[in-house]
Amino acid sequence: MGKVEDNEGNAAICLQNCKPCLTYPGVEGEALFCARGKSSAPKSKKGCNCGICDVQKKYGCDDLYYCINGACE
Ligand code: SF4
Ligand code: SF4
Repeated sequence: MGKVEDNEGNAAICLQNCKPCLTYPGVEGEALFCARGKSSAPKSKKGCNCGICDVQKKYGCDDLYYCINGACE
């Protein structure tokens, strides 16, 4: 069970950070990797904006690259 709530508010905040990220997989409908888990088509690491994300702070997560590594547990 992940720590981060899967809801629309968190998904909207997520896309402000994930979408401009160079590592963003860009798969239609995917977001909130820290809650939902890794992307179905992860890219190689080219930077990660999760460190500046309010969702991450709110739930006490401090990892990076959730789209590659999976959800914050
Ligand atoms: S921590 Fe990363 S994956 Fe999670 S909501 Fe923020 S930008 Fe998205
Ligand atoms: S989880 Fe991190 S690396 Fe992946 S798209 Fe979001 S900000 Fe970029």
